[in-house]
Amino acid sequence: MSPEKSQAYSISIGGLVQGVGFRPFVYRLAEEEGIRGWVRNDAEGVTLHIEGEQKALRRFQKRLRSEKPPLARIDSLLVKACQAQGLQSFHIVHSESREEKRVAVLPDMSLCDACLAEMHDPSNRRHHYPFITCTDCGPRYSILRTVPYDRPNTSMAAFEMCPACRREYEDPADRRYHAQPIGCWECGPRLSFWQKIDNRWQELDGADNPQTASEIFLEETTRRIEAGQIVAIKGLGGFHLVCDALNEAAVQRLRERKHRPAKPFALMMASLEAAEKLAAVNDRERELLCSKERPIVLLDKKEGEKTVAEAVAPGIGRIGLMLPYTPLHTLLLERLNRPLVATSANLSDEPILRDGEVLRQKLGDVVDAVLDHDREIVNACDDSVAQIIGDRVQWLRVARGIAPLSLTADSKNASAVLAVGANQKNTVALSLEDKIVVSPHIGDLNSIEAMEYFARTVETFRRFYDVSPEEIVCDLHPNYETTKWAKAFTIQNPKSKIHQVQHHFAHVLAVMAEHGYREKVLAFAFDGTGYGTDGTIWGGEVLLADTQGFERVAHLRPFRLLGGEKAIKEPRRVALALLFELFGLDEILAMENPTVRAFKPAEIRLLHQSWEKGLNAPIGSSMGRLFDGVASLAGVCQFQSYEGESGLRLEAWGSDGVAAESGFFEIDGDMIDWAPLVRALAMGERDTAHAFVAALTDLVAKVAERHPDFPIVLAGGVFQNRILLESCLAQPFAQRLMLSKFLPPNDAAIALGQLYYALQQI
Ligand SMILES: [Zn+2]
Ligand SMILES: [Zn+2]
Ligand SMILES: [Zn+2]
Repeated sequence: MSPEKSQAYSISIGGLVQGVGFRPFVYRLAEEEGIRGWVRNDAEGVTLHIEGEQKALRRFQKRLRSEKPPLARIDSLLVKACQAQGLQSFHIVHSESREEKRVAVLPDMSLCDACLAEMHDPSNRRHHYPFITCTDCGPRYSILRTVPYDRPNTSMAAFEMCPACRREYEDPADRRYHAQPIGCWECGPRLSFWQKIDNRWQELDGADNPQTASEIFLEETTRRIEAGQIVAIKGLGGFHLVCDALNEAAVQRLRERKHRPAKPFALMMASLEAAEKLAAVNDRERELLCSKERPIVLLDKKEGEKTVAEAVAPGIGRIGLMLPYTPLHTLLLERLNRPLVATSANLSDEPILRDGEVLRQKLGDVVDAVLDHDREIVNACDDSVAQIIGDRVQWLRVARGIAPLSLTADSKNASAVLAVGANQKNTVALSLEDKIVVSPHIGDLNSIEAMEYFARTVETFRRFYDVSPEEIVCDLHPNYETTKWAKAFTIQNPKSKIHQVQHHFAHVLAVMAEHGYREKVLAFAFDGTGYGTDGTIWGGEVLLADTQGFERVAHLRPFRLLGGEKAIKEPRRVALALLFELFGLDEILAMENPTVRAFKPAEIRLLHQSWEKGLNAPIGSSMGRLFDGVASLAGVCQFQSYEGESGLRLEAWGSDGVAAESGFFEIDGDMIDWAPLVRALAMGERDTAHAFVAALTDLVAKVAERHPDFPIVLAGGVFQNRILLESCLAQPFAQRLMLSKFLPPNDAAIALGQLYYALQQI
């Protein structure tokens, strides 16, 4: 018998295979199987040439799929037999192609198990090192200045590798091969601690030995948090404001100093077990909490025993929990072993702070101390937020761990398009030849700082992906900052073309984009407010839409928003306007309900005048505002200090035993009339609020019956209401549902929808 002849194959792999340690993984596999050849990145993903014995090649291919690196995702794998070249070894081919440059802008990742184990190992040279990292974990996007993703292009350029780190970095067989943020006690980033003495910030002296200094700073942080102080801690994408979640006075102090009266704070928990003491956690939620993305997960508070300070999430039944995701957080939580409030460090309406010096300046009066470090955050990135509905993950904020989010385009995009999104919960989206990239959450564009952050993100994305957009897409709203920015952009770049897309249509298109769907859908776009094609405020819209356009087949009966923007902060104003639509002034003044009681009679008379004349009382058909109105009439919420508070309070007040309810909405032609609902509430039938969500589900079902031929899209911030979406998922029409996968139902999805529209027009 003669020895088996060498066989050879060429393998092309598509998916998320660049910048995730895929080539060194292939190298190690080839070494183990005694295979010769090479691997390199190319435009589509990764290409391999392998040659060797048939059996080894087969094993190799099997292991390629089953043992792939944790961050990799294989979408396609094409194998072709080819000519053996008589190669003697296996090597990694490095290229400097344009394609290689613009891929691999990956999200930051949570600490991996291998690094966690090393961090806890007293014999390891990175024992207790707060910046331990490898190819599978640690910062990416947040430290990246420009592409390609190489150490000199990151904020790690400031640290020169020690010989031991360099050896690991250069060894293809090492799990830190080309791990750009690699470092150790010897050569890597270090902690520092800042305190106020006589109202001036001073750095605490540590020790010459960095490990000793680190222990001192962690001890000092622990001591202060235990003493009820507020400490700013630098994490992956920005600073958190941290305090003891068990300490009522500390949490209250944080609320007062941050001028944030009621909006719930997220908590960081030492462990899954600790999280399960505070909240009811099911299997899917457990999986999400422990996932490599490590988002904040919204969970049901456990009833009964009082476990954390009431001020953490006052008046609502949900609580946002996350597990530590950096080595630093892990070390700290191990010492403190108690739930910590960990909220983004910012002034209201401003983006999360990423620089210690700026933080000490801006939040000097909010924090008592700062645990800082010298690895610069180049791109700020908030924590992601998600919840489980049914057995689906619904993302509510797409940021650390998941964004920048790349979606594979269903066909080659002809030109570069930039979509600038909405004014609230802003994100931007960019099209490349073969993919669409959505930025991390930028936030509400209500301040100069937020607009700067927006502009910086656009610039960063243009640089990362090396494109200058020829087409730009924005909302129809003339006063959106993003619309103004887009118009200014086209003036500066006369060759560029602008598209404007109606807000609710964009909500629907975003869902279609995620499914690569172009045909007609029946869509329910329920949200707070968006600019309609008729110049009024929309938000309770039923559209028949495809990628070319839409028909508004039904909408909520319009009502006035008394005081314009003020109506958003005061649900009682919305409720009063609903009453004005149905009853006479005297009738209302004689009513005994929570809304009427929330005003003085003179105020009601005055508001009635502006309602009659339409003074500062724009017309809107917003479902989000109807929620507010219901919350007011039910006596659950008259003023709201943060967006969505009324919905959360309604949810906390009555989420059990809601029977399917019909008759609260009447559909009359293209008008969805809420009059029966409001009449019942006005007469003091407070239980009606319980049935409100069920009535909405019934409404969706009725409209769906009228248009039986199309998939049903549910989009807009209202569908973040877990009870509503859960009840829709339990209906027969659920099998027709098309829901978002990665993008939130809220305005964060608008940029993607806008982009999808423009791509279909080109
Ligand atoms: Zn790791
Ligand atoms: Zn080192
Ligand atoms: Zn919206």
